[in-house]
Amino acid sequence: MRIDIITIHPELLASPFSHSILKRAIQKQLVEVNLVNLRDYAFNKHHAVDDYAYGGGAGMVMMPEPIALCIEDLKKQRDYDEVIYMSPDGENFTQSIANQLSLYKNLIILCGHYKGVDERIREHFITREISIGDYVLSGGELAAAVVCDGIIRLLPGVLSDETSALSDSFQDDLVAPPVYTRPADFRGWKVPDILLSGHEANISEWRYQQSLKRTLERRPEMMRKRDSGE
Ligand code: SAH
Repeated sequence: MRIDIITIHPELLASPFSHSILKRAIQKQLVEVNLVNLRDYAFNKHHAVDDYAYGGGAGMVMMPEPIALCIEDLKKQRDYDEVIYMSPDGENFTQSIANQLSLYKNLIILCGHYKGVDERIREHFITREISIGDYVLSGGELAAAVVCDGIIRLLPGVLSDETSALSDSFQDDLVAPPVYTRPADFRGWKVPDILLSGHEANISEWRYQQSLKRTLERRPEMMRKRDSGE
């Protein structure tokens, strides 16, 4: 998989891809992440990528031309499955979207700033808009990093235990059961006996029941959705 991230702050995105699981995924060539500096496509002498909003009001708007040139340039080099714009009014990022996107070969992710990008870019270049939650960030970079992390950890070979992503929250419309490690007795607080029993079937049933209980307590709406088979 290849992900091109268009940004005016590539340095903001350097760190998330330089550590831990994402770093290893890149080293193992399971994913290629290419940070594209939008300023390289700014045609004016000040390398400006924003301008005042038509109609007035506070806040600058990202100009259409550098973004259009940048996306066109990338598209000349390969076909893209989606051109994604990170936006607070996009569809909410969920595990099911992460699963879907992880099956694609080439993605572009555009990070906005200021008041966002000129609407004509959204109309004519963007194929999908994704939000990471109902709040407003100052730029799309952190949101893009969240989406990339969610996708990349699902790529085959990225997690050392391949089944591990499957037992995480949301994969089966349930949240994850509680987990424990050594010591079995920490300050008098004991690990549930069943987990020490070695009885695989009972453990797996216990975990499933705990997932159901937690989902019911913490995410009742998820449980309702699950029950109604939506
Ligand atoms: N004026 C816009 C907000 C712009 S915030 C509005 O009210 O909708 C600047 C940029 O940050 C956006 O263009 C987007 O790329 C990014 N951003 C902010 N909040 C986000 C969120 N919740 N999810 C994804 N991207 C977000």
